[in-house]
Amino acid sequence: MLARQNIRINALRMFSSSMKTMTTGGLPLDASKLKIVNKSTPSKPRPNDELVFGQTFTDHMLTIEWTKAKGWDVPEIKPYGNLSLDPSACVFHYAFELFEGLKAYKTSDNKITLFRPDMNMKRMNKSAARICLPTFDSDQLIALIGKLIEQDKHLVPEGKGYSLYIRPTLIGTTAGLGVSTPDRALLYVLTSPVGPYYKTGFKAVKLEATDYATRAWPGGVGDKKLGANYAPCILPQLEAAKRGYQQNLWLFGPEKYITEVGTMNVFFAFKNSKTGKKELVTAPLDGTILEGVTRDSVLSLARENLDPNEWEVNERYYSINEVAEKAEKGELLEAFGSGTAAVVSPIKEIGWQGKDINVPLLPGEQSGPLTKKVAQWIADIQYGRKTKDNWSRVVADLN
Ligand SMILES: *Cc1c(COP(=O)(O)O)cnc(C)c1O
Repeated sequence: MLARQNIRINALRMFSSSMKTMTTGGLPLDASKLKIVNKSTPSKPRPNDELVFGQTFTDHMLTIEWTKAKGWDVPEIKPYGNLSLDPSACVFHYAFELFEGLKAYKTSDNKITLFRPDMNMKRMNKSAARICLPTFDSDQLIALIGKLIEQDKHLVPEGKGYSLYIRPTLIGTTAGLGVSTPDRALLYVLTSPVGPYYKTGFKAVKLEATDYATRAWPGGVGDKKLGANYAPCILPQLEAAKRGYQQNLWLFGPEKYITEVGTMNVFFAFKNSKTGKKELVTAPLDGTILEGVTRDSVLSLARENLDPNEWEVNERYYSINEVAEKAEKGELLEAFGSGTAAVVSPIKEIGWQGKDINVPLLPGEQSGPLTKKVAQWIADIQYGRKTKDNWSRVVADLN
């Protein structure tokens, strides 16, 4: 199995390095050419308790057109509004669409920072290359997103769990029904003030393990943030909801490996009764797992902060059967999802083959002790109470 996996991974690496040499041609993306058209009357910030995830948008959006003939056109910041596209545009028929999700935070020293935007830009370019949409210079788009945030900085909410969600999107806009490489594209960025995913702090969720549908497969595109990956995931989620589960846990293959939860990466903590050591584990990046920025942050912070005499931090294959067996022996400690929207989302129960696997929580609380710590480590960096490497990028200073 491992040898087979390695061959697959190597084949994918060759494929992605050949894509890197693909040239886009035409003018490069240039933030210095930015044109700004202001909304005539700026809106007032909504009270924090009225913010519903992804339902409220700020006053402005960023749009940049691309054509094969000319390359990247002048970037524009303009009032938020409808797009006008030919109904035969390839995005509507063949899913030439990809997106990103990242957040800007108002820090305790009154700055607005982006959390690890370089990671999102890198992933966005990988997604673009995979579906033959144009790539771009990451730093230029980060600079432009910074300008967009600055434009609407009065709408960035403040407080624990509050942030500005940023949605960069890239679509193919070539008109006509032939299936081919798009020669026109539109990159646009929306921003949305958001509150904590769960209003009352953590809320542990119940999952149903899904083995009759597959989210991603070797050689597929599960590691890219393509819109086409998401629509087919709703039906299994609805099925799980009918039986009282909030989300589904994606399994893969005859081994029933655990891959992701809903649209988040997933972590489990185990206890090894023989060695007395604890283990934090998540699935390896083999092309079927979305390369989450939060996943990467959890791994780095766990490796940095957990005592190696007590903890092992591993990226390895593990199955629902292993989790069920460990639960049976009292060796299942914790489980949580990780992603930009909720950051960390504790899990309390997993439905599997007609039974429920119970995940322990702290008495009277909605998470286990490690889940709580991980959430705190990340929040400390996002809200500027601590620094780590170049993870926080300042885009506006409100002082
Ligand atoms: C976006 C996403 C994640 C989480 O990625 P982050 O960069 O941490 O937000 C995980 N899984 C899927 C399927 C996703 O789409």
